[in-house]
Amino acid sequence: DSILEAQDLIFKYPDGTKALNGLSISIEKGKKVAVLGANGAGKSTLFLHFNGILQPNEGQILFDGEVINYKKKMLKELRKNVGIVFQDPDMQLFSSSVFQEISFGPLNLGLSEEKVKERVHDAMEVTGILDLKEKPTHLLSYGQKKRISIADILAMKPQVIIFDEPTVWLDPKHSIEIIDFFNEINKQGITVVLSTHNVDLAYSWADYVYVFAEGKILGTGEPEEIFKDK
Ligand code: ADP
Ligand code: ADP
Repeated sequence: DSILEAQDLIFKYPDGTKALNGLSISIEKGKKVAVLGANGAGKSTLFLHFNGILQPNEGQILFDGEVINYKKKMLKELRKNVGIVFQDPDMQLFSSSVFQEISFGPLNLGLSEEKVKERVHDAMEVTGILDLKEKPTHLLSYGQKKRISIADILAMKPQVIIFDEPTVWLDPKHSIEIIDFFNEINKQGITVVLSTHNVDLAYSWADYVYVFAEGKILGTGEPEEIFKDK
């Protein structure tokens, strides 16, 4: 079953840049999916369509088999279920303290204060930042901000988490840690999608790989099929 699907997406930015060029993709529930492609291939633009931040010029997005209609209620549901961790955590963090930051999403879902506290605690525990609870977000290191931006998303308990270039700035040790972390959340039933330039990472980690170029999909398959010439 596919959890997220894009059908024949065409998208141009307001300045005329054609970012998606008739792109179709189907992401299976519960899988580990890697999206490979050079800078500018359209990966981030697709992700922004997957949680309704961008709306295609042509084509459609389906979540759990349902076509997104861009009405308020459906968008809210989509954003609750599809979390994106952006490359730059400063794009995501805006509250004054770490606790406030992570509780923002769950509060917005209308959960009780008790439930919100529980979710924030669990998300901070999993990302190893319980000691940062009272810290002002502007005093944090890059690595700490990154963890908070992940905790932000986890606290929403989405069905899919998309990581935009999660390892691009990381040294090997931090990269291995984050990959272990992806596997852990995947075991809990979350579909994990990540974009990367790293062919070895896609090969060793993913159940399924999509190769992007120029706003289209160039190839898809299990790593063994896609990289059989390696
Ligand atoms: P990727 O994530 O694969 O690096 P992007 O989706 O960011 O690719 O970019 C796809 C294309 O859209 C590129 O040509 C990029 O320059 C362009 N683009 C991205 N964001 C914008 C924007 N806000 N305005 C205009 N063009 C953009
Ligand atoms: P920690 O809180 O785990 O000590 P650091 O701030 O040392 O985190 O950074 C964690 C990782 O983020 C490192 O692998 C480092 O290469 C990377 N990093 C640190 N600062 C930046 C930055 N300004 N831009 C991009 N990557 C960074």
